[in-house]
Amino acid sequence: MQDIKIKEIAVSQVDLPYAGGVYHLSGGRTYTSFEAAIVRITTDNGIDGWGETTPFGSTYIAAHARGVRAAIEELAPHLIGLDPRRVDRINDAMDAALVGHESAKSALDIACWDLFGKSTGLPVCDLLGGRTEDTLPTISSIHVGIPAEMRRRVARYREKGYVGHSVKIGGDPEVDARRIAESLADKQPGEFFLVDGNGGLTVETTLRMLRLLPPGLDFVLEAPCATWRENQSLRRRTDIPLVFDELATTPSSIVQMVADDAGEGTNLKISKAGGLTQARRIRDICIAAGYTMPVQDTVGSDIAFAAIVHLAQTIPERYLRCVLECRDMVTLKTADGTYEGAFDVRDGRVTAPNAPGLGIVPRLDVLGEPVMIFR
Ligand SMILES: [Mg+2]
Repeated sequence: MQDIKIKEIAVSQVDLPYAGGVYHLSGGRTYTSFEAAIVRITTDNGIDGWGETTPFGSTYIAAHARGVRAAIEELAPHLIGLDPRRVDRINDAMDAALVGHESAKSALDIACWDLFGKSTGLPVCDLLGGRTEDTLPTISSIHVGIPAEMRRRVARYREKGYVGHSVKIGGDPEVDARRIAESLADKQPGEFFLVDGNGGLTVETTLRMLRLLPPGLDFVLEAPCATWRENQSLRRRTDIPLVFDELATTPSSIVQMVADDAGEGTNLKISKAGGLTQARRIRDICIAAGYTMPVQDTVGSDIAFAAIVHLAQTIPERYLRCVLECRDMVTLKTADGTYEGAFDVRDGRVTAPNAPGLGIVPRLDVLGEPVMIFR
């Protein structure tokens, strides 16, 4: 194979306002806008690839927008001249240049996969192992609020066709129990509920909350406590199904989860892992462990959603628990599909387009002039 070489890396900075006003998370955290870094990598034979990373503010995981830009500044010069199709080698080069900072590596890695697809004429999902025949159910993101009002928001998403709902709770056992009961009150057959503590609960408050719930509610508890110790303590005292998120980031943390029998699955977020290359590795470890996976990203616009859909399209239905429709969380559209109807959600379900790479065409007028260019 003839080498192609990365010639230029450009980074755009875009503010993505939250579509629902103020997003509330446990511990009193609030968010009104998310700052995206969108990367364009161009090769010496004139192909370009795109990637996005959008941290969920600076109080969610150890990633924030200015840190992403600073890390890309460290990383980008080490990628000039490399072949973007050798994605594992690209990741080796990034890891050799900078420890951690997965969120920044993610945008660069996704752009390489887009290039890989465009240069071979294959969709990213086929390069990641091949598409399944399934249509992918979407999940909503229901921020912390008044219980009855959360029930109404779930209903609105249900009307739009959403099959899954990620219900956030706040840390007060009595109110959280009502939030869960109200959000699940109108549950339809086949609907899937995550109840997400975002690490804001203690073992004590989680146990009290669970005792206050009416019996028979069908949900999976996500990331109740902030530390492994607390979550493992909780696991010894309850039979509630658990998936992890903030604590389960890189492949090595997933291996630790399996070793500790810490849960039933992980919320697989691409930028948290460091891109599609690492997310692919996590996918395979999870399948081997019999774990279930919601496939998401911290948040993001159309480019992040495209990566989510391609990855999820490779996961057998038995292990896949919804994809995050992150485009619905923000008011700005950064890209279109390469053909009419690509990435359309029908009856709450979506499939990866059959087009080279991610199958997106960025809106250059929305992205504006790059804030950094490396050659
Ligand atoms: Mg979560």
